Amino acid sequence: MSTLQLQGIGKSYNSVKVLEHVDLQVAQGSRTAIVGPSGSGKTTLLRIIAGFEIPDSGQVILQGLPMANGSGWVPAHLRGIGFVPQDGALFPHFTVAGNIGFGLKGSKRDKQQRVDALMDMVALDRRLGALWPHELSGGQQQRVALARALSQQPKLMLLDEPFSALDTGLRAATRKAVAELLAEARVASILVTHDQTEALSFADQVAVMRNGRLAQVGPPQDLYLRPVDEPTATFLGETLVLSAKLEQGWADCVLGRIAVDDRHRQGPARIMLRPEQIQISLSEPAQQGQAVVTSIDFAGFVSTLNLRMSGSDAAIEIKTVSREGIRAGSHVSLNIIGQAHIFAG
Ligand code: ADP
Repeated sequence: MSTLQLQGIGKSYNSVKVLEHVDLQVAQGSRTAIVGPSGSGKTTLLRIIAGFEIPDSGQVILQGLPMANGSGWVPAHLRGIGFVPQDGALFPHFTVAGNIGFGLKGSKRDKQQRVDALMDMVALDRRLGALWPHELSGGQQQRVALARALSQQPKLMLLDEPFSALDTGLRAATRKAVAELLAEARVASILVTHDQTEALSFADQVAVMRNGRLAQVGPPQDLYLRPVDEPTATFLGETLVLSAKLEQGWADCVLGRIAVDDRHRQGPARIMLRPEQIQISLSEPAQQGQAVVTSIDFAGFVSTLNLRMSGSDAAIEIKTVSREGIRAGSHVSLNIIGQAHIFAG
C-alpha cells in the first residue's frame, strides 16, 4: 500500500490556477523530491498534503484513508504528518531539548529518555539539549527541527526546502544525513526543492513540477537520461540538444551519425546528450579534426567550449571537464558514449 496517493489535485487562488491534475504516489519508506522553478506550485502542493490548505478538486489519501476528497477534510494536526519548514521554525524561547520534546506526552523521565533517543537518531550531541536554538549552527537547527517532527512518529515527513539556508558543503552533508536517518526510521518523505542536484541526490522518486503540473515522475536516473521534453531536460542538468534525422536507431546530426535510444522512431526529431556522453580529444597535428574550438570559457573543474564543426560550419556549445592543452584554435574530435535520447513528439 502506498503511504500517500494524490489524485487529480487542483487549486486556484483568485481564479488563477496554481495546481492542475496532480497525481502522485509515495511508496512506504520511500523518498520523493518535488522539484521545479520558483512559483511552479511546489509549496502549495506540500501545504495541501500537510492539511494547511484545502484543494479545490482531487483527493489526498494517506495510508488508505481520505484526508481531503471534496466532501470531507481532516485538519493538519490529526493527519500524523511531520513538517520541517525552510527555516526550521524552532521555538526561540525553548531550549533544544524543549523543542524536541514539545509534543511528547508522559512523565518527565520518559520524555527525557525519548528526547535523548531522538537526539542520538539525528546525530546531535546530547549536551546540546540545554542550549538555545540561536546558539546552534544552521545544520544543527535543522536536525532539531527534524527530531521534533520525528518525535510525533509521523506516517509521512514533509521537508520544505530544509537545506536552502545552509552553505554548500554543509547542505550536501546534512542532506545525506537526513536521507539516511529517514531510511533508518522507515518514514516516507517528500522534499520540496528548486535545486535539481538536491532532488536527484536525495530521492528515489523525483517529480518535476512546471506551471502547476507534474511534467514527469520517476527514478532520478530515468528522468536525467530520458526526460520527456526539452524544458525538463534542461531543468535537470546541462544538455546538448540537437536537431536530427532518425533512421533505424541512428540519428544524423551535426555530430555525424550517432546511436539513439529508440529504434522505431523515424524522420526529423530533437535529440539530446548529457555532457558526460561527449568525450573531446585533441586531434593529431596532421589531421583537421571534427571541429575547431572557437572560444573557451574556463571555470575551474568545467570549461565551456564553443566549437565549429568542420563539415557543416555549425556552431555548438559543450560543457566539459577542463583539460590543459585545449584552447581556442585547437582541432578536436568528439567521441559519443552511449545513446542520444529522443524527445517525444
Ligand atoms: P513554489 O513553491 O514552487 O515556489 P508556490 O506554491 O509557493 O510555488 O506558489 C505557486 C503560485 O501560487 C505562485 O504564483 C504564488 O504567487 C501563488 N500563491 C501561493 N500561495 C498563495 C496564496 N495564499 N494566495 C494567492 N496566491 C498564492
